[in-house]
Amino acid sequence: MRSARLVGSLKYRNLRYTKNHPLRIPRVSLLLEFLDAMDLIDEEEKVEGRPATMEELLLFHDREYIDTLIEADRCQCVPEGARERFGIGSYENPVSPAMFKGSSLATGSSLQTAELFIKGFSAFNPAGGMHHAFRDRAHGFCFINDPVITIEFLRKRGTERVLYIDLDAHHCDGVQSAYYDSDEVFVLSLHQSPEYAFPFTHGFMNERGEGKGKGYNLNVPLPKGVNDSEFLFVLEKVLAYVGDVFQPDIYVLQLGTDPLLEDPLSRLELSNKGFLEAFRLVRSYLGDGIYLGGGGYNPIALARSWAVLWCEMSGREVPEEITPEGRRVLEAVEWEEFDEDVDRSYMYERLLDEPREGDIRQEVKELVLRVKATVYS
Ligand SMILES: [Zn+2]
Repeated sequence: MRSARLVGSLKYRNLRYTKNHPLRIPRVSLLLEFLDAMDLIDEEEKVEGRPATMEELLLFHDREYIDTLIEADRCQCVPEGARERFGIGSYENPVSPAMFKGSSLATGSSLQTAELFIKGFSAFNPAGGMHHAFRDRAHGFCFINDPVITIEFLRKRGTERVLYIDLDAHHCDGVQSAYYDSDEVFVLSLHQSPEYAFPFTHGFMNERGEGKGKGYNLNVPLPKGVNDSEFLFVLEKVLAYVGDVFQPDIYVLQLGTDPLLEDPLSRLELSNKGFLEAFRLVRSYLGDGIYLGGGGYNPIALARSWAVLWCEMSGREVPEEITPEGRRVLEAVEWEEFDEDVDRSYMYERLLDEPREGDIRQEVKELVLRVKATVYS
């Protein structure tokens, strides 16, 4: 097994979204503090993130868009016309230090994971996975599309075939748009169906790519309420089908934690045990890859889940109990459940959730059959 590295930074503490935004919460800094408190990471396993260079940002984005983003970040204002033209400064993508400084740091960090991977490590950038950003447009809380820039970076270094796998609860429309006509990058996404979830317009199964890229894009839109059993059933089948038609040199895995039951913005119902099993499944098929973060809007659920994945990546056994030190870190987070009647005390006591297993609904079985038919068509 490869030795693991976690690329992160405490600088994100000061690079937050504005108040009232779902991403105002601590995420990467919380994970780092939690891992330290739980004694689950060694100093030599930590890599301090670095910002992306202009040249790297332009591997995907338009110069004018990036220049406007930098200007907006500098003045902490919306430059004239930037909202209409680039989606900068909307409610969804507000003006804040996260906009450019935070996104650039997250993107440079994703490139560090790629560099570390090439050097023989496995590496995780929890700040990465901002999969909604388009070439010239902020979208879905995302300003810079670090997954695409990471894939382009790998391709420039001679990687020919990349598989991008996205387990976030939302469809990766920005990444899909970048590779829709490519047969060198296969984009696979499992997500809440756009019939009821963001981004609403993309993520349907009939989006299979175009031109040379036809057949190299696969969307698996899930119904509400998917449990561990259903998610793992679908993922295992889909990985096998994709393995028949595409053999990557490297894969990039987006690990947004919003498929977890506790997430306030999604309708999937995974436990972090199920999410761990999903991660294991991907690795059992494909070996080590490049690991990025993604969505996740309950900071406690996010820190627990990524801590569990980090244990798996770094070859540690997942401890059962959350230590008093770990608990103090989680309890210090300013966070209130939307529904006060729900008892989430287990999140502060144990690290791994009880599995959320259940029957595999007929509609999920039929979904898999449709996926199979579309892959082999
Ligand atoms: Zn998401």
